Amino acid sequence: MSPIGKPIVDARGINKSFNTAHVLKNVDLKVNAGEVVCIVGPSGSGKSTFLRLINGLEDIDGGQIEVGETTLPGAPKELLSVRRNVGMVFQNFNLFPHLTVLENLTLSPRRTGRMNRSGAENKARELLKRVGISEQSSKYPSQLSGGQQQRVAIARALAMEPQILLFDEPTSALDPENVNEVLNVMKELASSGITMIVVTHEMGFAREVADRIVFMADGQLLVDASPSQFFEHVEDERLRSFLSKIL
Ligand code: ADP
Ligand code: MG
Repeated sequence: MSPIGKPIVDARGINKSFNTAHVLKNVDLKVNAGEVVCIVGPSGSGKSTFLRLINGLEDIDGGQIEVGETTLPGAPKELLSVRRNVGMVFQNFNLFPHLTVLENLTLSPRRTGRMNRSGAENKARELLKRVGISEQSSKYPSQLSGGQQQRVAIARALAMEPQILLFDEPTSALDPENVNEVLNVMKELASSGITMIVVTHEMGFAREVADRIVFMADGQLLVDASPSQFFEHVEDERLRSFLSKIL
């Protein structure tokens, strides 16, 4: 574990293009161990792409990202180490539909040789209890509500004991009545000290839970501020316009 207060993610001068579209433009972001950073911004501004670069799901065109002890771009071995160290929670849960809840949690720890079957199952049951779905362990994802599926996805990410958790709009696909149960799990995680980077439109959550909120628009990171500064004192015109549309 990195000590609290040291950068655990350090992205410097990040550029990314898809064909002729320049979707990330010199993005810099430092996240200290134990911090919760929320990323907000209009659709298409590059938020998901940035998360995907941090866990090595896309290649970086320019710049570097230090993730824990590893630097990207890196050799395949380093990519593997980053992916093991970084858990990811997606908007659409991405659970394995043909596996039970318990099997969704034990698959990666067993495949990677990190744990044997009984170790992985014990850990999985403990995590399912933590996210409040112990009773659902032998069900299949399709038998669960969206909120329950997302809580399983969070538990699955935790099963690999990552140092960093990335969330890409984790509540955007949920029915309104399921949003809070997921946010409450995320709040509990935030207070446990794990480093979290959360792309979200949930401004109440960002205000209450984030240590910092960053605003991206058109591939640029335009504002990086504490929650109180973010909502009250920010001069950026594009942020004002964005907030006026969603608040
Ligand atoms: P956000 O998450 O902020 O909505 P994205 O990172 O998903 O933004 O997308 C940023 C831009 O990059 C968009 O214009 C999107 O169409 C484009 N883009 C994202 N992924 C790809 C891809 N794999 N191929 C081509 N264009 C992409
Ligand atoms: Mg996105």
